[in-house]
Amino acid sequence: MIPKDADCIFCKIVDKAIPCARVFENEHCIAFLDIAPVHPGHALVMPKAHYPTLMDLPAELGGELTRVLSRVGRAVMEATAADGLNLMQNNYEAAGQLVHHVHFHLIPRHSGDGLTLWPQSGYANPDEMSNLAKTIAGLLE
Ligand code: AMP
Ligand code: ZN
Repeated sequence: MIPKDADCIFCKIVDKAIPCARVFENEHCIAFLDIAPVHPGHALVMPKAHYPTLMDLPAELGGELTRVLSRVGRAVMEATAADGLNLMQNNYEAAGQLVHHVHFHLIPRHSGDGLTLWPQSGYANPDEMSNLAKTIAGLLE
């Protein structure tokens, strides 16, 4: 039995309880078009099993998901004659996650399409970056 959430709209898509514009499916993963695309061809790729965020995803699903992302990404680019492709993945509401079933956005891009990504800035002082790097590295030991 794969993990499911009865209230999850993406679990309902996996179960075919609600329709979607499906583009790919295998044993562990499914891909379909986003109903509100950034650009036409904007696809979502996700595991069929319900895991809320990327951090909840079992490592053994990662390889399969990456293979599907790559295959679907190539097909989306070809179908839309795209010049580029953005991969986007939101975790938790603070980061814009609306559906709490881990998924990746594949967004086809065209040169000069005018879409701007988030603004970048710098660190407040020279130590802030190295201290944060040390803290994160320490958590990964
Ligand atoms: P996120 O903000 O990363 O959780 O993205 C959720 C995405 O799911 C949004 O881009 C929605 O447009 C999309 N979405 C929600 N419901 C559906 C649906 N029934 N079929 C396809 N895409 C959907
Ligand atoms: Zn789900």
